[in-house]
Amino acid sequence: GDARDQHLGKQERHPAFDVHAVRRDFPILSERVNGHPLAWLDNAATTQKPRSVIERLSYFYEHENSNIHRAAHELAARATDAYEAAREKVRGFLNAPDVNEVIFVRGTTEAINLVAKSWGWQHIGEGDEIIVSHLEHHANIVPWQQLASAKGARLRVIPVDDNGQVLLDEYQKLLNDRTKLVSVTQVSNALGTVVPVKQIVELAHRAGAKALVDGAQSVSHMRVDVQDIGADFFVFSGHKIFGPTGIGALWGKREVLESMPPWQGGGNMIADVTFEKTVFQPLPNTFEAGTGNIADAVGLGAAIDYVQRLGMENIGRYEHELLVYGQDRLREIPDVRLIGTAPDKASVMSFVLAGYTTEEVGRALNKEGIAVRTGHHCAQPILRRFGVETTVRPSLAFYNTTEEIDRLVSVVRRLASSSR
Ligand code: PLP
Repeated sequence: GDARDQHLGKQERHPAFDVHAVRRDFPILSERVNGHPLAWLDNAATTQKPRSVIERLSYFYEHENSNIHRAAHELAARATDAYEAAREKVRGFLNAPDVNEVIFVRGTTEAINLVAKSWGWQHIGEGDEIIVSHLEHHANIVPWQQLASAKGARLRVIPVDDNGQVLLDEYQKLLNDRTKLVSVTQVSNALGTVVPVKQIVELAHRAGAKALVDGAQSVSHMRVDVQDIGADFFVFSGHKIFGPTGIGALWGKREVLESMPPWQGGGNMIADVTFEKTVFQPLPNTFEAGTGNIADAVGLGAAIDYVQRLGMENIGRYEHELLVYGQDRLREIPDVRLIGTAPDKASVMSFVLAGYTTEEVGRALNKEGIAVRTGHHCAQPILRRFGVETTVRPSLAFYNTTEEIDRLVSVVRRLASSSR
């Protein structure tokens, strides 16, 4: 009759989501680590892949492999069709209006660098201001810092409260006619905070600035609609949404992308080249110089099909219950300090345990087959805001279970009691 039973009772009211059936779709979840069943609680770093994604990659290499666009033969046609079908899947997933607004990139980091190098170099000048939030991953800080330092512009930071929520009043005070870009994450990878990006974008636009939303941590946990959010750019990584590494997408509004110069030159992105002059291809090829990650784009398409079959609402609802359960269990341990206590959170339960380094906690968990990230999570500024350099960061996906959380909590509890 404890909280866990109540939780399981609640779960049964959503028979649409059968976690044990879902787990069977992920071969790696049957691995054993150090003599224990693997508990993969490092989903914010990367996610595991369903069999449908793994098989789609094999199918591509067994039946379709070719370079795209250039050669007029059967396999080139198959590869091109598969690649462009994946682009259409990304478009549908984001509810983007136009498939040509979807640019395949290596991941979130490359997408942000593309925008900084292309749009940023064109539009940011001396004295201009770029706004980010205190929650950002280094990938949404460093490219803007580099741009600002090259151009004599200034990086400004939206502060957060003690729960890790962005302070919208302070944000409004930062906006002015020098603000050219606001770039914010939709979900914090270090704390899990869900950021009100729609509101932030609207205020940016009212100030005459463009807006970028980093969806690296949001797309696997909630339905995303780029038309509803209203930003000029939205970026994410395939590997964080049960797809392959090395592939991701940049979505941008057509008129904004069409006004931007290519950031890399080479094959695939040109219509005509002479030594005097090059004419570029229209979108999306303008921004896809060279041979891209064709197979992994196709694999990303399969990952999108997979989560859409489960339903983003079902995923979000199930994960929310798991997160509430996990945080409640961790809070019961007196020496645990949760970092990031916003009411609206997704997936992440960062914490520190008094008397232990985060590495010691991570090692103790690993011995039991439980994988969590320990460290600064590529988000040093926000951890320092909370007075810590590192945290232990369990992060959830829809294939995690209350049993896995119980295993995590029992290790932490054992450490806590043996330190006294
Ligand atoms: N932004 C956020 C919020 C992230 O969590 C991450 C990855 O951890 C990134 C950007 C960078 O993503 P990638 O390493 O896939 O380019």
